[in-house]
Amino acid sequence: MTHAGGCLCGQVRYTIEGDPVGARMCWCRDCQRIASGSATVNVLFPEEAVQFTGEIGKFRMTADSGNSVERGFCPKCGSQMYSATVQPKGLPMRIRAGTLDDPELMAPQAIIWTSSAPSWATMDQKLPQYPKAPPAPAPVPSKPD
Ligand SMILES: [Zn+2]
Ligand SMILES: [Zn+2]
Repeated sequence: MTHAGGCLCGQVRYTIEGDPVGARMCWCRDCQRIASGSATVNVLFPEEAVQFTGEIGKFRMTADSGNSVERGFCPKCGSQMYSATVQPKGLPMRIRAGTLDDPELMAPQAIIWTSSAPSWATMDQKLPQYPKAPPAPAPVPSKPD
């Protein structure tokens, strides 16, 4: 199935061929900074399933997990679009749930990096919580070229 989304100003758009492989909230400190204080809410897709149009700003740094992570954003309106793990390879791309045209696509299934959440954070007690990174997901098989 095809899904779509975009940034606040509409300059960046994307389409996704395929269905989500998961969804979760992340309370790492990096996410708190880019999400203005709260957790980020991310829907996971195989990276090769996502096609962007428009100009995307990219910011790369080493995350709390030790992984090298790239965050993409719209340089015009500042909307955070995704994060992708550059190293190690094979992890799903995290699309920011709020940028999806249909934010109902998949509700969060887990809350991660809860150990760095502020004391006032409210968390759905029905969801599994991980104090740091979740157990390593199986790498997404890459399509043969
Ligand atoms: Zn924009
Ligand atoms: Zn995070």
